[in-house]
Amino acid sequence: MIQHVPAASEIIAREEASGRRWQDEMADLVTDPAELVRLLGLDPKQLPDALRAAGGFALRVPRPYLRRMRPGDPQDPLLLQVLPGAPELEPAAGFSGDPLGEAHANPVPGVVHKYRGRLLLIAAGQCAINCRYCFRREFPYGDNHLSRTQWQGALEYIRGQDGLREVILSGGDPLVLNDRQLARLAGELAAVPHLDKLRVHTRLPVVAPSRITDELLAWLAGTRLKPVLVLHCNHANEIDGEVRAGLQRLRAAGVTLLNQAVLLRGVNDSVAALSALGEALFDSGVLPYYLHQLDRVRGAAHFEVDDETALELVRGVREQLPGYLVPRLVREIPGERSKTPL
Ligand SMILES: *Cc1c(COP(=O)(O)O)cnc(C)c1O
Ligand code: SF4
Repeated sequence: MIQHVPAASEIIAREEASGRRWQDEMADLVTDPAELVRLLGLDPKQLPDALRAAGGFALRVPRPYLRRMRPGDPQDPLLLQVLPGAPELEPAAGFSGDPLGEAHANPVPGVVHKYRGRLLLIAAGQCAINCRYCFRREFPYGDNHLSRTQWQGALEYIRGQDGLREVILSGGDPLVLNDRQLARLAGELAAVPHLDKLRVHTRLPVVAPSRITDELLAWLAGTRLKPVLVLHCNHANEIDGEVRAGLQRLRAAGVTLLNQAVLLRGVNDSVAALSALGEALFDSGVLPYYLHQLDRVRGAAHFEVDDETALELVRGVREQLPGYLVPRLVREIPGERSKTPL
């Protein structure tokens, strides 16, 4: 059990936050590196590099997530995931703009169909946060922002795929859409006879827990489709009391909760960090699912952990935790029919 004793400032911040709607959180993101540096009391010397790197891929961080960072600590594991920095601008061999070849797996706009029985529906181009290691940092979201006719085209494609069992709402982050839009989409998918599961890949319950609304619970758990939510959380410090409460509500509504993390140098590349993450997830009703080896996207080379070290880490976690809290270490290889276990 992770003991987390909140500081007084944290309790006040949480009380202030709890009255806010998620739409307010989305309208009030921190996007200016100077503000981030000031709020966290960091050395302003970091600023010129941050500004340069943010020019290529903007800074975006919701305030509830920022409040879980340790002030004054340039190595904070949450800060490192969002702060633009000079290493991003270094060219690195083998790191490209579209490492997964997704630009070629689009049968119709908004659909990425690479694996049998399931496909990704790119429901929204935007994310609530910009993670520096994101494999979609150069993905042509503009072309994948669905218009009404494109929605119909994507649904038409789904209806025509008899072997399909599961639609995965992905992005970007699908939960940046509002619940009215999502409820309509869930209804249309539930009307497709060959589907039996509805999955959501999202980071929003972690970075802005007020997103877990009654309306969300209603559409996600309210159709005949079995609901699965795959969270994206990389470090135990990302889970505070409010995040835990939101996840427990999802669980109570009958949603299967899994987590995918990305193995990131300097953030979670230790047996202690990965074990603490597994325990914190379980405490919130979530089971670890995947631990991803980084996709080799341009600008993220400094986060890479080599395969030998990655295997060593997972072996270490297996010695610490019950087997059901050990994630599968995988890599995504373009052209393969599933994620590839290491
Ligand atoms: C990861 C991924 C999935 C889901 O894979 P699972 O192993 O079922 O979690 C589906 N489609 C695409 C294109 C993916 O990248
Ligand atoms: S939440 Fe996922 S898709 Fe969005 S920026 Fe982070 S890694 Fe990328």
